[in-house]
Amino acid sequence: MRIVVTVKYVPDIASDRGFQDCRVVRTPAEGTINELDENAIEAALQLVEAAGEGEVVAVSVAGPDGAVALRKAFQMGAHRGVLVSDDALAGSDYFGTAAALAATVERLNADAPVDLVITGMAALDGLGSVVPTLLAAHLGWPALNLAKKVALADGAVTITREADDVTEELSARLPLVLSVADTANKPRLPNFKLIMAARTKEYETWSAADLALKPDAVGQAGARTETLSAAPRPPRDEVELVTDKGEGGKALAAFLIRNDLV
Ligand SMILES: Cc1cc2nc3c(=O)[nH]c(=O)nc-3n(C[C@H](O)[C@H](O)[C@H](O)COP(=O)(O)OP(=O)(O)OC[C@H]3O[C@@H](n4cnc5c(N)ncnc54)[C@H](O)[C@@H]3O)c2cc1C
Repeated sequence: MRIVVTVKYVPDIASDRGFQDCRVVRTPAEGTINELDENAIEAALQLVEAAGEGEVVAVSVAGPDGAVALRKAFQMGAHRGVLVSDDALAGSDYFGTAAALAATVERLNADAPVDLVITGMAALDGLGSVVPTLLAAHLGWPALNLAKKVALADGAVTITREADDVTEELSARLPLVLSVADTANKPRLPNFKLIMAARTKEYETWSAADLALKPDAVGQAGARTETLSAAPRPPRDEVELVTDKGEGGKALAAFLIRNDLV
């Protein structure tokens, strides 16, 4: 069982985030793994453990600091890491990112078959939730999205997903791309041994040329969308706190009338 897990390097959601030239500012001090990708790593580790053998390869498309995301994957138990990093990839949009991830999977697949690619349900900075499906389209593999439960048997993956008022059960044969919901599992806490080993564990760095990526398929040149502006949301208006001493209802009604909310 050989599983590729995609892990995105994102600004910590608890940090003050900023933009420069319409791009998210990424600093090593505040960069971390996309939290939702920990669910993907956990799902991959569980499948390999259940199979009794296999390899989990973490892949990140990012600048050099993206190694932070790979180290987190190592801490949880990923066996191998690939950082796809190249100036030519800067400014990639969803399509460029998916193209780079697909080329990475194809190269890994050429060495030894990849059975499954597992992704998170969204990247907490871009929030596109489209990369898994685009990646599957590039590879020509089926996509099973937003899995809440994952089961593997007889060369097929069956998932349960919640869609509005419906609980769906879907199945597809390997190889495929699977995105897991944040409710799919509880990511494990790394143990001391893995944390220590992850500090010095080596990962590979592949360039756009290593993946034979066409210059017009990735980076700014390949972006089909243009970010016209990006600015932090203005702070919220002052909050009006009313201590209810028996007149709370009246104060609430007055507030609604004052703000034209009725
Ligand atoms: C015009 C434009 C310019 C941009 N410029 C930059 C830029 O210069 N630098 C930059 O970092 N971003 C840039 N972005 C944002 C970046 O391209 C998106 O974050 C990217 O397309 C992925 O989309 P998403 O974050 O919405 O992923 P989603 O679709 O929400 O991600 C779903 C899952 O896909 C996987 N995934 C997504 N992205 C990656 C990745 N990079 N590596 C590994 N796994 C991944 C993760 O498992 C994630 O949980 C730009 C976007 C646009 C539109």
